[in-house]
Amino acid sequence: MSLAELTDQRSAVQILQRSLDRGRLGHAYLFSGPDLDLLEVLASNLARTVNCLHPPQAGAGGLPLDCCDACASCRKIQRLSHADVHYLRPESKLRIITIDQVRQLNEAIHLKPGEGRYKVGIIQAADRLNPEAGNAFLKTLEEPPGQSLLMLLSTDPGRMLETLVSRCLVLPVAGETMPRLSPAERKLLDQFIQILATPREGIWTRYRLLGLWIQELAQVKAAVEKELSERSPLRFHDDVDPRLKEKWEDELAAAIEAEYRRRRSDMILLLQRWMRDLWLCGHAIAEPGLFYPELAEPTKAAAGRLGETGAQENVRLLERLHRILETNVQEFLAIEVTCLKMAL
Ligand SMILES: [Zn+2]
Repeated sequence: MSLAELTDQRSAVQILQRSLDRGRLGHAYLFSGPDLDLLEVLASNLARTVNCLHPPQAGAGGLPLDCCDACASCRKIQRLSHADVHYLRPESKLRIITIDQVRQLNEAIHLKPGEGRYKVGIIQAADRLNPEAGNAFLKTLEEPPGQSLLMLLSTDPGRMLETLVSRCLVLPVAGETMPRLSPAERKLLDQFIQILATPREGIWTRYRLLGLWIQELAQVKAAVEKELSERSPLRFHDDVDPRLKEKWEDELAAAIEAEYRRRRSDMILLLQRWMRDLWLCGHAIAEPGLFYPELAEPTKAAAGRLGETGAQENVRLLERLHRILETNVQEFLAIEVTCLKMAL
């Protein structure tokens, strides 16, 4: 397989090929997306491309734009037996990547390429790096050796150490299945877009955004309370033992909290995906693989204003918000901080 054949990941491939063409490939990428196998295929193809012996095409900067998928180097990488391409996978019962594994990779990456052009490190499920291992890897990310390429793959980048994410070029990779927008989701995104489309000076826009967000969440909470209360046995049995009643009340409160958190998480994911679309549109690709193609026009308009770094920063902020809301942080404060930091 070659990059050209990865039609489902076309937008990610186009971004990578443009960088190859300019001779400006990044040192470290984070490929994120819902399907780890797809991310792995993309990483393997890029590893083959930079090390291909007979590339079908080369860019102005001299780097190959794709791999031949037939030369000795391509075949070795395909068989996982290339001396310069190293893989880290979660091991052990706990399915984590340990500090010892990272140390081995660090050593290998710092050696000069033996048979290829590039030393490549591919970290599968980078969200499984434990903090110790992540910190050990940080130094290599901060000072990568020349002619090296690191690719971190994750289906859940929100769980990664922020210091790692911020040192990578984040490349969202779409899967085959795109979610459809529900009317409620569409309405929320429309409101979000409208606020972003008419920015005003100072913090006015930020607090308008915060207001929208808090109001939406209050509605979600009220809806969850209503739905679950209507289904609770409390509603059908007036005359029960006080202890049983108390138990039912506790159960209802816990169920409401859990369901609310789930819907809140979906809402932030919705914004994350849209912001990722916005980031893709900023790359001026003819047909970026958008999560929400129906919003392409306003998304492009917002992308033009925000620029690539602004959009990327927003993706990162939303990922961070998603992650910290799973801890017991104060919701309002976390969202307020996000609104104050977002690029608008
Ligand atoms: Zn080849």
